[in-house]
Amino acid sequence: MRPSLSLRGVPPFHSPRLPTLSLPRSPILPTHRNLHLAPPFLLDTYTPRYQLLSSIDAARKRSLAYSHLSNCNLCPRLCSVNRFKTTGHCLIGSNVLVNTIAPHFGEEPCLQGHNGSGSVFFSGCNLRCVFCQNHDIAHQRNGMELSPEELAEWMVKLQDVGGVHNINMVTPEHVVPQVALAILAARDMGLKVPIVYNTSAFDSMASLELMDGLVDIYLPDFKVWNDSTSKRLLKADNYAEHARESIREMYRQVGDLCFTGDGIARKGVLVRHLVMPGKEEEGVEIVRWLSGSVSKDTFVHIMEQFHPRAHVGKKRRGSGEEKRYADINRAVNEDEMSVVVKAAKEAGLWRFQEAARHDGFNI
Ligand code: SF4
Repeated sequence: MRPSLSLRGVPPFHSPRLPTLSLPRSPILPTHRNLHLAPPFLLDTYTPRYQLLSSIDAARKRSLAYSHLSNCNLCPRLCSVNRFKTTGHCLIGSNVLVNTIAPHFGEEPCLQGHNGSGSVFFSGCNLRCVFCQNHDIAHQRNGMELSPEELAEWMVKLQDVGGVHNINMVTPEHVVPQVALAILAARDMGLKVPIVYNTSAFDSMASLELMDGLVDIYLPDFKVWNDSTSKRLLKADNYAEHARESIREMYRQVGDLCFTGDGIARKGVLVRHLVMPGKEEEGVEIVRWLSGSVSKDTFVHIMEQFHPRAHVGKKRRGSGEEKRYADINRAVNEDEMSVVVKAAKEAGLWRFQEAARHDGFNI
C-alpha cells in the first residue's frame, strides 16, 4: 500500500474490557491510553516464526514451493500453468519482478516505527481493481527481476543497513512460492526481523499453508463485501468468500496483533478496510463479520484515503464526455467514514489504528 493516512475526526475509544483505574486526575497524565499495548497483547521478547522452523519443515516447504511453481493453482485464479515456462493471470513467472525495495514510512506507525518497514513492492497482482491505488506497479510488468536468493540478499540488506523493523511483502499473493524460498534463504543469511504479509486477501488455503510458520504479521485489506461489487470493481468472482476464509486462517495461525514494549507490532493479524465512496454499507458488513467471526480484539485500520485512480474517471472510449466508474470518482466523505467506524464500535471492536495526538508516531 502507498502512504496510509490515519483515521481523523474519530474520538478516542476506550475498551469496555479493561478495568477502569480510579487514579487522581493530573494535568500531565494522558487522557488516552494506547490500548493495543495492554496485556495480553504485550510481548516481552519475540522470535520470528521462521527462526523456529525445523530443518525438515524448511526442506518440506522448499519442495512444496517448487511443486506449486511447476503447476500453479496457488491463488483463486487456478491457472494450472508451469511458471518456469509461462505465466498465468498474474503475468509473473518463476522469478519475482520487484518495483521498489526500501524502508517505507507510509504504513501504520506500529509497523514502520522510527526506522521504517522494509517494504518489497512486487510487480503484478492477481486482482484487477479498476481503482488500484498502486496501478503503475500492480497492473504492469515493471521492475527488476530477482531470483529468491537475490531477494533474500535484499531482505538482509534492509535489516542490516536500513535497520528496518520488519520485512513487508506488499501484494505477495501471486508470488508466494518465491517469497517462501526467499524467507528460507534469508534465514540462512542471518535475517532476524518479523515478516509482514501485506495482502489484498485474495489468497488460497494452499498458499497460506505454505506461509504458515514463515509469516509473523498478516496484513489483509478486506476490500468489498458484495459479489456484484467484486465482479465489477475487482474483476474477481467470490472475492469476499475467499477473503473471509483467508482471514480466518491467518488468525488461526498468528492470532491477535501483539507488540513489544517499544510499540512495534511483532505478531498477529492487522486488518485494513479502505472505505469506498458510496460503499460504506459493505464496510459495515466487513467490520461486523470481523467482530463476530474472527475476534473482537482484531486490530483494525479503517482507512479514508481512497482516491480515484487507474480506470476510474477516465473518459469512456467513443462516448464523448462520459466517465468510467463515475459512481466512485470522488474521495470518501466524513459521513461515510463515520458509518463504518460507528458500526465497528457497536459490533464490539475496540483496537483501532488512530491518528497520533502529537507530531510523532503513535507508538
Ligand atoms: S498465482 Fe498467478 S499463475 Fe498462480 S494461480 Fe494465481 S494468477 Fe494464476
